[in-house]
Amino acid sequence: MEFERRDFLKLCTFMGAGAVVAYYSANIKQAIAQVAQQNGGSVHLIWLPMGGDTGCTVSMLQASNPDLIEAAQNLGLSADFWETFMTPDYQLGGSGWVTAGMTTENQSQVPLMNAAFGDAPVDVLVIEGTPQLGTPTGGSPGDFCKIGQYNGQDVNAYTLLQKLAAKAGWVIAVGQCSAFGGIPAGKGNLTGAVPVTEALKTAGVTTKNPVVNLAGCPAHPDWTLITLASVLQGFTPELDSLNRPTAFFSRVIHESCPRRGYYDAGQFASKFDDPECLWDLGCKGPITVSACAETKWNGGLSFCTQAGPMCWGCMHPNFPDPPVSGFFEAVPHFPGVDVETLEVAGVAALAVGAGLAIGLSSRSKKDNGQKKAESPPAKSG
Ligand code: SF4
Repeated sequence: MEFERRDFLKLCTFMGAGAVVAYYSANIKQAIAQVAQQNGGSVHLIWLPMGGDTGCTVSMLQASNPDLIEAAQNLGLSADFWETFMTPDYQLGGSGWVTAGMTTENQSQVPLMNAAFGDAPVDVLVIEGTPQLGTPTGGSPGDFCKIGQYNGQDVNAYTLLQKLAAKAGWVIAVGQCSAFGGIPAGKGNLTGAVPVTEALKTAGVTTKNPVVNLAGCPAHPDWTLITLASVLQGFTPELDSLNRPTAFFSRVIHESCPRRGYYDAGQFASKFDDPECLWDLGCKGPITVSACAETKWNGGLSFCTQAGPMCWGCMHPNFPDPPVSGFFEAVPHFPGVDVETLEVAGVAALAVGAGLAIGLSSRSKKDNGQKKAESPPAKSG
């Protein structure tokens, strides 16, 4: 099978992400290896941290198809700035692909500032964390998050985002915080935290290609690497209305969940030790679009509803606010509503709260005949 010039993301959409990752991991590695050749042996990456906890960087260390070191070498990545890895005496994997050897914090800022304010190229800008546009007392917009200095002046992350996004070949918002605001933009948001797309729009910055949103808390490492490899091969991923690659974001988790049989049989768990469907314990799989159940995590080992807890909805655009919280509150059952279309239809934000239930029911009844209308079965107990 000719795989070398295939768009991974199109293939994932066509076959299902899980099947592609499982069956074609060797081919993906091979195709990734070609990216470096096509790009003259070096792809300049800036991994810009904003308001976040570096969880997506930690997640990248769990990549398995291929792993991060292998992918970095094969992609010909030159990670000119990836702060978490830039320690004075440690070069990840011994390959030197990430800028290292810095002995002071000031030195470590140099490649970042050269990329933002100088001539250093930026092929891919990855944003991890939430842009914070608010103004602290005595500061300027964006000053809640400062990263280093340029010409003796403090530079905030919002400024760097604008500079880097304007020149980058691709901008990829990795993780829930950058894609949708995540926890920093949740209720009580004090720092003006917003998604990357909104920050760029506010600043009037246009990008060379559409910003790609890889939602999740954290982002899935394999999806990130496959997306990187795909865009670096010159393919523009098919994105949904929220800028998510449809390869990984087109079906709700509920559709492929290993507990789905229990749901269909009307058997619901009453405690987390139980094997049945976790709907009543607060599972947000019915309203959360992602391929978690297809590719799974940690090398295809497992994922949330398989491992024990319910889906928290960490990839839902409203996370951590309703409808994914309260986390242990069940998604309401709506007779006549196809639960698999709730998030896709953009009405899931209305799905929790008895006062809104009538509105949802009237707005999203399945009547187009394209899919079998589904209403949750009667409880078994
Ligand atoms: Fe799986 Fe949750 Fe759907 Fe039950 S409600 S089948 S646990 S995704």
